Amino acid sequence: MAESKTTAAPSALNGAYPFIDHTFDVVVVGAGGAGLRAVTGCSEAGLKTACITKVFPTRSHTVAAQGGISASLGNMGEDDWRWHMYDTVKGSDWLGDQDAIEYLCRNAPDAVYELEHWGVPFSRTEEGKIYQRPFGGMTTHFGKGRAQRTCAAADRTGHAILHTLYGQSLRYSAEFFIEYFAIDLIMDDDGACRGVIALCMEDGTLHRFRCAKTILATGGYGRTYFSCTSAHTCTGDGNAMVLRAGLPLQDMEFVQFHPTGIYGAGVLITEGARGEGGYLTNSEGERFMERYAPSAKDLASRDVVSRAMTIEIREGRGVGKNKDHIHLHLSHLDPAILAERLPGITESAKIFAGVDLTKEPIPVLPTVHYNMGGIPTNFHGEVLTKKGGDPDCIVPGLLAIGEAACVSVHGANRLGSNSLIDLVVFGRAAGLRCAETIRRGERQPDLPKGAGDLALSRLDRFRYASGGTPTAELRLKMQRVMQTNCAVFRTGDVLSEGQKLIHDVWSGIGDVKVTDRSMVWNSDLIETLEFDNLITQAVVTMDSAANRQESRGAHAREDFPDRDDANWMKHTLAWASDDTRKVTLDYRPVHTYTMSNDIAYIEPKARVY
Ligand SMILES: Cc1cc2nc3c(=O)[nH]c(=O)nc-3n(C[C@H](O)[C@H](O)[C@H](O)COP(=O)(O)OP(=O)(O)OC[C@H]3O[C@@H](n4cnc5c(N)ncnc54)[C@H](O)[C@@H]3O)c2cc1C
Repeated sequence: MAESKTTAAPSALNGAYPFIDHTFDVVVVGAGGAGLRAVTGCSEAGLKTACITKVFPTRSHTVAAQGGISASLGNMGEDDWRWHMYDTVKGSDWLGDQDAIEYLCRNAPDAVYELEHWGVPFSRTEEGKIYQRPFGGMTTHFGKGRAQRTCAAADRTGHAILHTLYGQSLRYSAEFFIEYFAIDLIMDDDGACRGVIALCMEDGTLHRFRCAKTILATGGYGRTYFSCTSAHTCTGDGNAMVLRAGLPLQDMEFVQFHPTGIYGAGVLITEGARGEGGYLTNSEGERFMERYAPSAKDLASRDVVSRAMTIEIREGRGVGKNKDHIHLHLSHLDPAILAERLPGITESAKIFAGVDLTKEPIPVLPTVHYNMGGIPTNFHGEVLTKKGGDPDCIVPGLLAIGEAACVSVHGANRLGSNSLIDLVVFGRAAGLRCAETIRRGERQPDLPKGAGDLALSRLDRFRYASGGTPTAELRLKMQRVMQTNCAVFRTGDVLSEGQKLIHDVWSGIGDVKVTDRSMVWNSDLIETLEFDNLITQAVVTMDSAANRQESRGAHAREDFPDRDDANWMKHTLAWASDDTRKVTLDYRPVHTYTMSNDIAYIEPKARVY
């Protein structure tokens, strides 16, 4: 696959190690839904495109998405992209950038039809149209009715989409570098990104990719927490690469807890289960969501439902021996519907909770699920930083898409089924931007002197690390601190204790012990690189949360229970330095304008469901 793979694996990394060099127009890091959509777009436009991925493309976390992808097709009743936009702005608790949200919702229907034409096997209505189910926070007429907007392929929508996209991405001449682990970006003195360094985990060779545009599509960082629905590979490597490049991450304090992770296992039960009529009860058998969200009830937005469940448990109305979880009921639904629309979760409930959901309720608990924060970008996918007073300064040569990015369309809280649509809409946008701004084979500047040296010395540092603390021990400490000190509800005291504890874990990396040094999958070395990526994100998440003195979306401060638009309607930017172990925070304004003239800015108001 590699163009000039002539060198044997190195015996030592120190000294003059020959990189295997490659030149492309575009390098996409990541082969989930976002990465593959961008690869397809760039290669279709004739650009020489590479895709680097640490797992086989169809094993990316997108494969696990269950419930569906939102778009106002109106197949099951009236719908309009403007209502979708209103719901997304409200769901974001007015932290989303409205120009980007407009772009998302306007382009969503075409993106879904494109997927349909490419072969995604969507579930169908009687008339043969794409089946759509209700999802939390999705309404008609600006909050008045309930929309059926979430297009589904049973409860395996991500699986269907990812496999289809992988097929499409092979149509043109993109080159795949599979089981290559991207280590760091190559940054030039002028602040431009010139490419990326990656390690081939099959033979331990090191590769230097030079390209006009690097697109990061590396997914979220759920694994900073002890209990999450995301795959073990969700370690936010791209986010950490951005921090090491001296660039900020945005809105990291906004971590979504999904109301229905299976108790004890963390495995997801899709919101589609409530969309199809499922409901939650406490130990008194009460459908308590009626008290918290009289109108939307069990289909209120995720942050609202997760908080309600947490309060019920705290006030002693949890179910089970320890009264520490909640019941999700589906047994009243027609078994034929369960078999047709929710076959995957029927299986998950059996395997992970030992429950036959046609007869018994599923034990569930709010579980970390999605990262609203990430690499700040505009709606073309171009990465932004704040520089010289410009809060929207474009970083040349670098784009980010998917869960790794913070466009920001989800603001303080993402609505269910709005991520899959984000992947394809902005994956496409990034491809279009590359096609607009570069020409195939365009001459690129020489790489800066010593390009890749920093990545090498980092690799060396961990490869020969012989301290006293195994990586697994540090990782567990980090995950427990995040789970305890940066959870559904937060207070100043709990967060400042969390800051101390998480900064201690960060310092602990100086004493890390790596036993298995081989440069292959699942080796201690690779897990240490991933841990090193996770811990910087954990630290900026905690520090960003401690600093934001208000409650908005997923960030619920008991000591500051109200949203405070006058002081806090702004995006957090966080920089982190590995050398000084310091985090620097700053803020940039939310875009309070739309993209085009035919739709007005949606003014903030109280967020009730
Ligand atoms: C269980 C579950 C169910 C969900 N259900 C839904 C749903 O129904 N609807 C919805 O809208 N959203 C859903 N979501 C959210 C949504 O699926 C994710 O946000 C989305 O799939 C992320 O896609 P992505 O392309 O950004 O990244 P991913 O799919 O996570 O892919 C990341 C890619 O980056 C690569 N990568 C990472 N690090 C490196 C590195 N260092 N070097 C090389 N490659 C690297 C990986 O190999 C992988 O290919 C769900 C999430 C989960 C966890």
